[in-house]
Amino acid sequence: MTTDIPDEFVDIRDGVRALCAEFPGEYWREQDREQAYPTEFVETMTKNGYLAVLIPEEYGGSGLGIRAAMAILEEVHKSGGNAAACHAQMYTMGTVLRHGSEEQKSAYLPRIASGKLRLQAFGVTEPTSGTDATRIRTMAVKEGDHYRVNGQKVWTSRAEYSDLMLLLARTNPREDMEKRHHGMSVFLVDMRDAVGNGLTIRPIRTMINHATTEVFFDDLMIPADSLIGEEGRGFRYILDGMNAERILISSECIGDARWFIEKASAYARDREVFGRPIGQNQGIQFPMARAYAQTEAAALMIQKAAALFDTGDPCGTEANMSKMLASEAAWAAAEMCVQTHGGYGFAEEYDIERKFREARLYQVAPISTNIILAYLAEHVLDLPRSY
Ligand SMILES: Cc1cc2nc3c(=O)[nH]c(=O)nc-3n(C[C@H](O)[C@H](O)[C@H](O)COP(=O)(O)OP(=O)(O)OC[C@H]3O[C@@H](n4cnc5c(N)ncnc54)[C@H](O)[C@@H]3O)c2cc1C
Repeated sequence: MTTDIPDEFVDIRDGVRALCAEFPGEYWREQDREQAYPTEFVETMTKNGYLAVLIPEEYGGSGLGIRAAMAILEEVHKSGGNAAACHAQMYTMGTVLRHGSEEQKSAYLPRIASGKLRLQAFGVTEPTSGTDATRIRTMAVKEGDHYRVNGQKVWTSRAEYSDLMLLLARTNPREDMEKRHHGMSVFLVDMRDAVGNGLTIRPIRTMINHATTEVFFDDLMIPADSLIGEEGRGFRYILDGMNAERILISSECIGDARWFIEKASAYARDREVFGRPIGQNQGIQFPMARAYAQTEAAALMIQKAAALFDTGDPCGTEANMSKMLASEAAWAAAEMCVQTHGGYGFAEEYDIERKFREARLYQVAPISTNIILAYLAEHVLDLPRSY
């Protein structure tokens, strides 16, 4: 079915597929219906070490490159599941790994690798700033050996199921800064101590089961050593981590696309109307073939982004293009799969309507398609900045 470049992750893929077989459509449907956190699935992924593949061996992980993580996430999505409940445990720690002190790395990374600590909440987006993260208003003000944090985040996914949060806050007002992205800092907030002591988490119900929340900071006091790296350089640190997030989410989109294509082609071969398989009609075949071509092209772009990422080369353009192309391929496949199934595409038990809703997210988050296009126009095509 696919034209995968042979990869060295066959064993990992087989292992993830076997694990996912224990979590069939009924499991995901029930979690979705109840908007419940898929605890058993996340625990099984953790226990098998799949969430620690990017953590270096010296800190208790497997020290593999990003392509191993891509294989894992793609397989989860290709199996009909959804890794959003735990994917951030894989990559949020990258900011600590790249920019944290040796004390922070040895204090946190081994426990993140073992799953004792969950670092899968990422607080950047705010209600009034939207995509323009330079306009965040959450402030962290240094007072002796603490910072006092006030403000609000929105869409902070998995905050209720995370021990730690990576928080982007202003340590200097935007107006006082020479450049708008200066004066922001990153903190590793221990939410276990903070909830009820200045930190409030409120879940947001959404059209998908995503455990997302809004988070309020009301004179929350955090130790000064929660600061990651240098004060004022946080925006740069967050950007560094975004490439990994975009590449990995792209792989989930490829998994989704392949699930839709597999499901639709099997149905189209089998379902007979007017005395012949519906798959004999070009009106059914062509959207499927187009979605397949889009998916394979996007998968190649992700391989390019991943190769650059793993050698430490700049990959912002490729990571952005991967996310855009893969999310669009997944959406084309989702749309095609519903249409191929006719009325049955709407029935819960086929899992298509759930996956259809889930696949829509990635044209909006973690960054929307328009902003990727604006980035390409400005940074690659040398056109005037449009925003
Ligand atoms: C389910 C879910 C989970 C999320 N999880 C997290 C999380 O864990 N942590 C976190 O920090 N954030 C998270 N987000 C937030 C997500 O990253 C933002 O929703 C996304 O970046 C878009 O921001 P916004 O919703 O404020 O839209 P806005 O910035 O208000 O934009 C609205 C629309 O206008 C368009 N637009 C804005 N400016 C321009 C422009 N200059 N040119 C062209 N079009 C433009 C955008 O593309 C978008 O389509 C999540 C969002 C969702 C829905």
